[in-house]
Amino acid sequence: MGDRLKHDQEFIKKKNQILILEIIQKNNRRISRADIAKMTKMSPASVGRIVNTLIETGLIKETDQQSSGVGRKATMLECDVQSLLAIGVEVDRNVIKAAIVDLDGRIITEAEKKADNSANCPETVASRIIDLIRQLADGQKVELNKFIGIGIGIPGIINPDTGEVIISAQLKWKNERFASLIEDKLPLPVVLDNDLKVKALGESSYWPKSDETKTVLVSVGSGVGSALVDEGEIYRGANNIAGEIGHSTVNPDGMLCECGKRGCLQTYITDLSLLQEANQVRPVHHVEDIFEAMRNGETWAYNIIERACTYIAVTINNVVCTYNPDRIILTGNFIEHHSDTFEMVRAKMKDFIWEPFSGTFDLSRSKLGENSVRIGAAKLVLQQRLKQGLPLD
Ligand SMILES: [Zn+2]
Repeated sequence: MGDRLKHDQEFIKKKNQILILEIIQKNNRRISRADIAKMTKMSPASVGRIVNTLIETGLIKETDQQSSGVGRKATMLECDVQSLLAIGVEVDRNVIKAAIVDLDGRIITEAEKKADNSANCPETVASRIIDLIRQLADGQKVELNKFIGIGIGIPGIINPDTGEVIISAQLKWKNERFASLIEDKLPLPVVLDNDLKVKALGESSYWPKSDETKTVLVSVGSGVGSALVDEGEIYRGANNIAGEIGHSTVNPDGMLCECGKRGCLQTYITDLSLLQEANQVRPVHHVEDIFEAMRNGETWAYNIIERACTYIAVTINNVVCTYNPDRIILTGNFIEHHSDTFEMVRAKMKDFIWEPFSGTFDLSRSKLGENSVRIGAAKLVLQQRLKQGLPLD
């Protein structure tokens, strides 16, 4: 058998394992092997094999025989709820948030610690995360080794294979093997990834058929970024930097960017660039002040916001031309904190989306709000655990 074919078959087998696990979780104690075969149109033999694998790994178990309709008895299946919980963590400059998340992406319980993480070494931040996780596990009376693993979203360029933060401007870290700081202290695998990438994974999982569709998340606020989730998988590119559109060139003669190049996208739409423009008119310290001035009918303020929305619409067109997605999720502080901006961008899109793409995708706001990084991080660790951990027969 060719390597490629073998690889494809193993991939399908893993996908089917996850699919069946999810079906059982959603129909806990009300579903039999035969029901699953009917629902998935898989052969009873294949379903039986996968169910047995899931039982061997302790993720599901058989329940007592129950009547299923007319006098027939069938063995029902149920998930071991405690073995299907993951921990999702978000590390931002000013806060660490942690949550216990179930297979369905629901937050069971959560905790947070406010602190200036950029002023602390990674070891201190790691020990704060460990404290939060112990606190959550104690509160739920779940032993730590029962969890599937810990997923962590961090701003910056991350190597998810080594659990290393290559560079994080927000946290002021460089080349830190952060995942191992936690793995050394807790009996759980840690998966580390870029915050926007896991956020995109979390948001995409909110929508039906997320593993058959392409979702792009575009975030605008203190920075600009994007992330593609392609049929349930984060698209990474060669170095996990795919989607870092902040330094894509919009105008080679434009303003100088902090990276040293001219006319990067982030010189048009980040908070800092809006403030720089506003300060040409009068001293302004917060983006909120520009919105306030716009609401008071001041033209300069409207012009700044309107131009930012134009460039966001341009960005969406560029992203759509690159990836041809089913859905764009527009998020970030510029959108979340100012309700008019989403509709302004939507109105602009008529002028900027290339015609063949019009009507081919949905534009949506975030559905999970401030939970999305933690839910996505938990989803990621679950995905990885299921890929690595389930034995293939
Ligand atoms: Zn730049």
